Amino acid sequence: MKILIIGSGGREHAIGKKISENKKVDKIYFAKGNGGTASLGENIDINPEDIEKLRDFALKEKIDLTIVGTEVPLTLGIVDIFNKSGLKIFGADKAGAKLEGSKSFAKAFMKKYGIPTASYEVFEDEKQAISYISSAKFPVVIKADGLAAGKGVIIAENFDVAKQAIKDIMVDKVFGEQGNKVVIEEFLQGKEVSLLCFTDSKIIVPMVSASDYKKAYDNDKGLNTGGMGCISPSPYYLDGSCDFIAKKTLEGIKKEGFDIRGIVYIGLIMTDDGAKVLEYNMRFGDPETEVLLIRLKTDLLDIIQSSLQQKLDEQEIKWYDKSAVTVIMAAQGYPGEPKKGSIIKINEYIDDTFVYHCGTKLENEKYVANGGRVLAISALGEDIKQARQLCYKQIENIDFPNSFYRKDIGELK
Ligand code: ATP
Repeated sequence: MKILIIGSGGREHAIGKKISENKKVDKIYFAKGNGGTASLGENIDINPEDIEKLRDFALKEKIDLTIVGTEVPLTLGIVDIFNKSGLKIFGADKAGAKLEGSKSFAKAFMKKYGIPTASYEVFEDEKQAISYISSAKFPVVIKADGLAAGKGVIIAENFDVAKQAIKDIMVDKVFGEQGNKVVIEEFLQGKEVSLLCFTDSKIIVPMVSASDYKKAYDNDKGLNTGGMGCISPSPYYLDGSCDFIAKKTLEGIKKEGFDIRGIVYIGLIMTDDGAKVLEYNMRFGDPETEVLLIRLKTDLLDIIQSSLQQKLDEQEIKWYDKSAVTVIMAAQGYPGEPKKGSIIKINEYIDDTFVYHCGTKLENEKYVANGGRVLAISALGEDIKQARQLCYKQIENIDFPNSFYRKDIGELK
């Protein structure tokens, strides 16, 4: 089989590694991939947003299956245009992808189907938004409606910060069209859990849980990032306890007529009033994928094919009863402007650890840092403690000048 994976991060490297374990797989292409995926398959120079070009490539190369790792092509309708050309593709259709692509749409969906979430208001007019926050209880959460690569959410401690955020989004358009509307939400306190689910739009199957570390530095200091580490299982979650949220989400997917043969990622916050949904993503998370897939016992390609045939109910999905930890090695400067160009040397690969590439390129047979998050080091252990020890031991075997990583991933206090 020929497989095409769309995206360039550690998530796509991890998906590719897992898929390559299936003997039916002959070749994997990555658009655009990175240094790690170049060693696993072939990187192609087509941007994930160029969905027509990707379709043409898939037709020309007779790709048997495309897996969409990253969100933008889903919201642009890649699944719809691949399906029209008779190409098999794993991901949400354009209508379903709106659950990730528009926060106001997702909130209205949650309200309609009785899914617990923070109370909120949506504004298309800057003055009305500002008038609303003048009597709000702080902190409030200000969100650009559309996709903003994790930067469109501002937790405002007071009126001035909130007003500035509204101005930045709606007047100065720092996120372009994605900021035509803002969602203003009640601030919720609690631990966050990522509950990813497989679905075929007929059934939904939650995976094991994970929790990521969003802040740049130890003890949750510094700016928000795409994620500096991840652990699975999440210590804040009891397996099965939010299956009702997954079920209600499925009910909504069916009633709205979305065609989602792919992933529904439910971002949860565990409050004193119970679990509430912060967001939906319609694809694997990064770095969640780097912990989840090493715990997955069942063949990933089999699960994806069952989902595409809408026979997920006949598919067993098993997990290793182990724990997994991922630590991100980032380039200095991240989450601001990262220092690129360092040469990375991996001296030894330790058993039960996995070195996924996020932002590298392969140059003269050497791995070179080429992004903010550069490597995702994952390990599988009997418990979180053992997995984190292995992870940090693997890191000691990597020479990566001008890098940094958090030392407290999986340190359960
Ligand atoms: P973007 O659209 O910019 O990519 P995103 O999809 O990551 O952003 P959310 O998941 O909605 O946006 O929010 C990002 C983070 O902000 C959450 O993981 C959480 O830490 C925090 N957050 C969002 N909403 C709330 C809330 N109502 N209360 C407390 N924290 C919140």
